[in-house]
Amino acid sequence: MKPAKFEYVAPTTVDAAVEALRAANGEGKVLAGGQSLMPLLNFRMTRPAVLVDLNGIKELSFIELRGDHVAIGALTRHREIEQSRLIASKLPVMAAAMRHVAHLAIRNRGTIGGSLSHSDPAAELPMLSLFYGAKLSVQGPSGRRTIAAEDFFVDALTNCLEPEDIVVEIEFPILQHDGWAFEEVARRFGDFALASIAVSLRRAASTVEDARVAVMGVADTPLRLKEVEDQLRGIAIDDQMPDRFSELVLSCVSANGDLHASAEYRQHLLGQLAKRSMQTALAAKGW
Ligand SMILES: Cc1cc2nc3c(=O)[nH]c(=O)nc-3n(C[C@H](O)[C@H](O)[C@H](O)COP(=O)(O)OP(=O)(O)OC[C@H]3O[C@@H](n4cnc5c(N)ncnc54)[C@H](O)[C@@H]3O)c2cc1C
Repeated sequence: MKPAKFEYVAPTTVDAAVEALRAANGEGKVLAGGQSLMPLLNFRMTRPAVLVDLNGIKELSFIELRGDHVAIGALTRHREIEQSRLIASKLPVMAAAMRHVAHLAIRNRGTIGGSLSHSDPAAELPMLSLFYGAKLSVQGPSGRRTIAAEDFFVDALTNCLEPEDIVVEIEFPILQHDGWAFEEVARRFGDFALASIAVSLRRAASTVEDARVAVMGVADTPLRLKEVEDQLRGIAIDDQMPDRFSELVLSCVSANGDLHASAEYRQHLLGQLAKRSMQTALAAKGW
């Protein structure tokens, strides 16, 4: 099938893009990499009257160190993030996760703003935005505002953006941690995750001083597991830790089942991935 008829607008500034969306009166849609939107248009699952193409807005494409944060422009391609040395050194969990995002051709076009705005519960970047405690800068008709990632995702494929809003950039705080891991299982490499976990730790002597944990593919949105993080803080590091961590994670998550995998299978996967991720995180510094 081909898309229903729409008007095509290609602004070169964010202000002009927001104005085009405002003028479309709720009937406008933003086009970024098109990797999720084009299939929806072709299947006529979405029928915008106006398509606002962001690809000519150069100011939306960058990766920048800003003190204790890394800022990424919304139009930055997955592949640029995957290959960035800055990301590899400051946001290593993100660097590790990017090769799991779809296939190379899709990573060449897909953007971080598109991924967050599409809000797939089994996508890596939405989960990483929660994991790092990212802040999204969003521009609408009444100006710019900041939305914390933890307030952004509402349900599967649903977030708190208004129809005239454009995600402009995302700020990721740099974690001062020294052990981390990203684990994922998908049916085929590059498919959306059946289950995935990200973990990062900082130790003090033989205990965990700080921890970060997030999962995805198991619920209607990605989840940051703050309860698990709290329980890890102060815990003694020993050989039993991967098993205890796996139990902790499973006690806080009740996986959803769907067409691709049953709830039981996803729960089992998550337990195994949690164990493996903790083994990797602890091995990182020879703990
Ligand atoms: C076969 C296949 C496999 C895939 N596998 C994975 C995977 O394993 N992991 C994964 O994470 N992703 C996967 N994807 C999705 C891919 O990462 C997409 O690139 C991403 O979801 C959307 O990014 P995009 O830039 O292409 O956005 P688009 O398709 O252009 O837009 C997606 C949605 O976001 C909106 N939007 C886009 N940019 C903005 C913005 N700046 N502000 C507000 N709204 C905006 C659009 O209006 C649209 O509703 C896969 C896609 C395909 C086709």
